[in-house]
Amino acid sequence: VLSEIKELEKLKVVSDIAASISHEVRNPLTVTKGFLQLLQDHTISLEKKEFYIKLSLEELERAEEIISDYLTFAKPSIENIDLLELNREIQYILKVITPYATMRDIDIMFEKTDDVFIAGERQKLHQALINLAKNGIEAMSPNGKLTIKLTSHENMAHIIISDTGIGMNEEQVRRLGTPYYSTKTTGTGLGTMVAFSIIKAMRGHLSVKSSLGEGTTFTLTIPLVQHEESSHLLP
Ligand code: ADP
Ligand code: MG
Repeated sequence: VLSEIKELEKLKVVSDIAASISHEVRNPLTVTKGFLQLLQDHTISLEKKEFYIKLSLEELERAEEIISDYLTFAKPSIENIDLLELNREIQYILKVITPYATMRDIDIMFEKTDDVFIAGERQKLHQALINLAKNGIEAMSPNGKLTIKLTSHENMAHIIISDTGIGMNEEQVRRLGTPYYSTKTTGTGLGTMVAFSIIKAMRGHLSVKSSLGEGTTFTLTIPLVQHEESSHLLP
């Protein structure tokens, strides 16, 4: 069997990652700045000009991708903890990712359930779910199917995100969550790392089961909010 379930707990501390991300974003900016300085020279050939512009755009796109995988992660805080109802939050991220899926002829299915309450930062939960759903979509060819299923039992909420995509071998699964590990030409290798960190910060965990050529399932497990805990979180 090629599939494997794995708990990933090899995360670096947040400050390390933040430092390394700002470095990653600064690089493309420095390179672009250099090209713009070169472009100030009016004697350079049109060919060179076009070349510098092309490279600058590529570098800026790279910076943009890094920021979008990382967006809400940079400033960890416990100040924005809210009581979140997961059916509602998932419905929100569906709105965000549906255009991306439609563009690639991917269908999304959501299996909802009764109200499920957890405590967490709304934006970070969105970021984690979007990063995982985006990976699922990117792993599939047209007509693929992304399924998001929500359940709860034994004081835990489970969000199960499955795709029918290319899948991963053991080595790839093992490397998941390692900063900058990517098999995509324009990948950042930050999406899963960010998702793992966010879920860990919510006292939850993320497990993955993957089978080459068949698909991948990520299961997020997050503690439910107990009644006593929730009273002070309610508006
Ligand atoms: P990126 O998407 O920018 O490559 P991620 O951290 O989001 O970075 O993902 C890292 C790598 O993990 C991907 O490049 C891919 O090889 C693998 N991966 C993640 N999710 C999936 C998935 N659902 N199916 C197949 N491979 C995946
Ligand atoms: Mg990704």
